[in-house]
Amino acid sequence: MKILVPVKRVIDYNVKVRVRQDGSGVETVNVKMSMNPFDEIAVEEAIRLQEAGRAEEIVAISIGAPQCQETIRTALAMGADRGILVETEQDLEPLGVSKVLRECVDRESPDLVIMGKQAIDDDCNQTAQILAGLLDWPQGAFASTLKFSDGRVDVTREIDGGLETLSLLLPAVISADLRLNEPRYVKLPNIMKAKKKPLDTIPIEELGIDVAPRVSTIKVEEPPARSGGIMVASVEELVDKLKNDAKVI
Ligand code: AMP
Repeated sequence: MKILVPVKRVIDYNVKVRVRQDGSGVETVNVKMSMNPFDEIAVEEAIRLQEAGRAEEIVAISIGAPQCQETIRTALAMGADRGILVETEQDLEPLGVSKVLRECVDRESPDLVIMGKQAIDDDCNQTAQILAGLLDWPQGAFASTLKFSDGRVDVTREIDGGLETLSLLLPAVISADLRLNEPRYVKLPNIMKAKKKPLDTIPIEELGIDVAPRVSTIKVEEPPARSGGIMVASVEELVDKLKNDAKVI
């Protein structure tokens, strides 16, 4: 099996995100960037499949600025075999990303695309679903367990109030949920080895795809500041305030 893993460079999840003064978006200058955490889970799952003898090759792919090479190198250090950067300075919408990924799927012919369920910067949760639609492939979104057998994969998904298990015919698109696995730490020797792994760069213009934005951001705002709490003297006073002031019970 050949696996394609899209990996997105996003603001590190430990960073407190600041909104730009003009409200046009969030500040990314001099901000620590990392691989989207759900994509780390996707890379880890691909590596586990390779270690179990189910996958021959793992290709990590990122779409974005030249700095996305660092994100791809992280995937290579974790264990991916090869990287592709589709280079663009433009921030693509999920539709644009999916069109680029479809082109990469056409070129690479993977048996499986496994990606994050959501990028933590835009919280779109759209790309896997759009990609599956464009490819006309089955999709297993929010996967928490995968089981492969005879050209199929059983995907267990966490849904409201329980678990759902689907059987998908390969090739398929899968998006990783938090509980699929716990990604490994990258060891220093592997970071050194990753520097020698192949990483191709394709300028986005070469693909001849329409990635023009369809959506414009009107405004980005900080959440309202929380007002401080108050101390109450007794449970009775607390119940009274919840009932009569906050009106929540
Ligand atoms: P989203 O639909 O934006 O929440 O993203 C879902 C998933 O799509 C991410 O977890 C990534 O696996 C993939 N993805 C989105 N944007 C990119 C990108 N620019 N480069 C590579 N993968 C991406």
